[in-house]
Amino acid sequence: MKYREILLAGEEKLALQNILDSKNDAWLLFEHIFKMPRHKYFMNSNDECVDEKLYKDYLDAIEIRANHIPLQHITKTQDFMGMTFNVNENVLIPRQDTEVLVEKALSVMKDCDKVLDMCTGSGCIAISIAKLKNVDVTAVDISSKALEVARENAKNLGVSNVTFIESNLFEKIYEDSTSKNCNKYDIIVSNPPYIKSLDIEELMVEVKEHEPRLALDGDEDGLKFYRAITRASLDFIKSGGYLIYEIGCDQGEDLRNIMVENGFIDIEIIKDLAGLDRVCIGIKS
Ligand code: GLN
Repeated sequence: MKYREILLAGEEKLALQNILDSKNDAWLLFEHIFKMPRHKYFMNSNDECVDEKLYKDYLDAIEIRANHIPLQHITKTQDFMGMTFNVNENVLIPRQDTEVLVEKALSVMKDCDKVLDMCTGSGCIAISIAKLKNVDVTAVDISSKALEVARENAKNLGVSNVTFIESNLFEKIYEDSTSKNCNKYDIIVSNPPYIKSLDIEELMVEVKEHEPRLALDGDEDGLKFYRAITRASLDFIKSGGYLIYEIGCDQGEDLRNIMVENGFIDIEIIKDLAGLDRVCIGIKS
């Protein structure tokens, strides 16, 4: 079979199973399996594929994706902020929208800042901040399995200025906290679980059945973690420091209220590339 026909068959199979972005996913799996960049494909698309093993691997990968397994669980990676992160079923797959949060954090950051990332998951936020600015980052997650992935990512990306801590929100940080730990962070960033429990059923199969519920479920009104983190953050952010969240597109006003109730000032809601509310930032007065 010609490469062109193999790719087309992959596209058709994914489209038939109602895979969103079927064409793109068929291509990304093709590139992943055949290790063939776009320009090479354009030159060779009419060649016969003689490697039976790769052909079979591609069909297998398409079959898995057709069953609504996320693409990134097949390729085992997701790019974020120009870096490649390893992912598995124990971490939320990094979203492009989350780059808005990282960019905002970088824009308010000074070189000597100390940063804490609450609910780090794959570590994509903490690690990209640590890599792009020479700052010390503490990355916290409740899941030891997520932290395994995050630690591996830091190592692969040559990042040594992130300290990983397993903790239910600030619990461990409180325990460790001496006066030297209190109010020591210039910036706290977080992409906590923020989907309303009942809304999880409405999400794509890829998300609701294959991404960790622990990373998605924000309780009844989706705001549980914002309330808890905002309240506790007052003990850990320096006066004049920032709290920066990723938020759901309909949570801007709720977040503004939570931040105001906790005394934050200069609160700003920032939109993502789709024009939807995505990030909330405020200053601890
Ligand atoms: N943005 C994620 C989604 O689209 C949710 C992330 C989260 O709950 N922190 O499913």
